[in-house]
Amino acid sequence: MNKNSKKVLIIGGGFGGVATARLVSELKNTNVTLLEKSSDLGAGVRTNFYGGHPYTFGPRHFLTHNKDVFDYLNKIVPMRSCGEHEFITYVEQDNQFYNYPLHINDLEKMPDKKKIKKELSQKKELKIKNSKNMEDYWINSIGKTLYGKTIEKYNKKMWLVNDNKKIDTFKWSPKGATLKRGPRAAWDKAISAYPIKYNGYNDFFDKIDKKKIKIILNSKLKIKNLKNKEFIINNKIQKFDIVISTISPDFYFNNKYGELPFIGRDFHKIVFPAKNLFPKNVYFLYYANNEKFTRLVEYKKFTKHKSDTTLIGMEIPSKNGKHYPVPFKKEIQKSHKYFKKFPNWFFSIGRAGTYRYEVDIDDCIEQAMEIKKIISSGKYDGPLPLKKWWTYG
Ligand SMILES: Cc1cc2nc3c(=O)[nH]c(=O)nc-3n(C[C@H](O)[C@H](O)[C@H](O)COP(=O)(O)OP(=O)(O)OC[C@H]3O[C@@H](n4cnc5c(N)ncnc54)[C@H](O)[C@@H]3O)c2cc1C
Repeated sequence: MNKNSKKVLIIGGGFGGVATARLVSELKNTNVTLLEKSSDLGAGVRTNFYGGHPYTFGPRHFLTHNKDVFDYLNKIVPMRSCGEHEFITYVEQDNQFYNYPLHINDLEKMPDKKKIKKELSQKKELKIKNSKNMEDYWINSIGKTLYGKTIEKYNKKMWLVNDNKKIDTFKWSPKGATLKRGPRAAWDKAISAYPIKYNGYNDFFDKIDKKKIKIILNSKLKIKNLKNKEFIINNKIQKFDIVISTISPDFYFNNKYGELPFIGRDFHKIVFPAKNLFPKNVYFLYYANNEKFTRLVEYKKFTKHKSDTTLIGMEIPSKNGKHYPVPFKKEIQKSHKYFKKFPNWFFSIGRAGTYRYEVDIDDCIEQAMEIKKIISSGKYDGPLPLKKWWTYG
């Protein structure tokens, strides 16, 4: 190791950690260690197999508006465009499937369309703008009836709350559209893709240059002294110059301001005796009612796996795992208190690391690219340059 090399520690070998390790290790004068507590890299984006069917924990569908991000991934993991694809949502009350997000044309299929249209005609932009919580936002945007049918129960089960007024940050919630007009495709402007290979994204995690990146698996980080840059890895104290963390920030301060809450997921895999189950272009089904699950995914739609059977994945919100940072203002404010305590050589990125639900696979790559730039400029300044990732507008 060159004596001017910066020792970089990356904590967490999920998509964010691996993307950062790959990019930062391209810089001369960096010496990168990637630490992961489990026995594999990739976390939920890793492809596993059930009955010969490839699947990930949830869909892990690659969507981005950033061509550079797509090109970067596509070089390592060749991607196939998802082309025409649809997401639909089941509304039990009407016994109908509608588009997800809801489309203006769906109203015509609704038995109570007159009432809904009347409520929509009373919509007031100022009221929407001044909404204080998720329930207000949706009622002001699409009226009480549509909210009750499509949004209310889904969000209660998604966030394990009995009242959507508790969800007081919601700028992310419409997923780009409250009531879509124009083309029906859910994500018209984004690049929508999935890996071509049977093993999904796994080459991104497994085909890493181990001469450039030291990978330590089955090892949980312990902190000796954060200020002195001292960490305990496999019972040995080690010092680093720069640390990039993808785990919840409360960990580093012994939950000093309280633990940051997350919603987890239970995941079930079910094989059906049919070549396909969902309609031709439908990849996901959302369920907006009292069922315990939120979403079903037919993996073959993404993987193009050939088989006489088909694999469906079912996601059930639970307390198991740290998958979804909770969108309550007070928790986000708490996360900011932690971010402010990090020294300037410490970056907190990824979904848990930024405590932001909307951080997806493409954002992890974008953040890793940004970190590489900052480190190569030599003017790194801790989490602050990444401020846009952890402040809600
Ligand atoms: C069910 C589900 C479905 C999703 N579907 C999509 C999708 O369709 N499209 C999309 O773009 N995004 C999707 N996402 C989001 C996206 O996959 C994640 O945002 C992204 O993978 C997060 O990567 P990360 O590296 O930030 O975190 P993680 O993947 O959570 O990785 C963190 C890693 O840190 C490790 N770790 C934790 N604590 C320690 C410790 N103390 N020491 C060492 N290691 C530790 C963990 O084991 C884990 O491997 C989905 C997320 C979920 C939960």
